Amino acid sequence: MPSPYSQEFDETYFLSLMTNEKWSVKAFLATDQRIPGLGNGTLQDILFRAKINPKCKMASLTEEDKHRLFVSIKHVLAEIRDNGGRDTEKDLFGEAGQYQTILSQKTFKNPCPVCGGEIVKQAYLGGSIYYCIHCQPLE
Ligand SMILES: [Zn+2]
Repeated sequence: MPSPYSQEFDETYFLSLMTNEKWSVKAFLATDQRIPGLGNGTLQDILFRAKINPKCKMASLTEEDKHRLFVSIKHVLAEIRDNGGRDTEKDLFGEAGQYQTILSQKTFKNPCPVCGGEIVKQAYLGGSIYYCIHCQPLE
């Protein structure tokens, strides 16, 4: 399984992972270890930047949505790596990462940084999800 940081993890490969239209986007991205290193915490900012709701069904994504999702995965994972991890997690030495999470347990009480709307927190598929109902509508 190619790491999402690798060259082999390109858009063609990414699209080939979408084998079940009934999955929700969260089920696709963050369960069954389909994408190594992409977990529930990382998922939130990826979907926020891609403007996709975590409960959205894969079948409802347009080609453009899928492209934005791919670009967002590459972008967010690179930023987290370059900043030594997320500010919500600590490394082996107890130091928090420098990547400032957009949506997390640290930030969800703040308004959406794009539209100023309310961020929703819900339990979904074994972990909390955070999303903006305006920027990430559930179609
Ligand atoms: Zn918003």
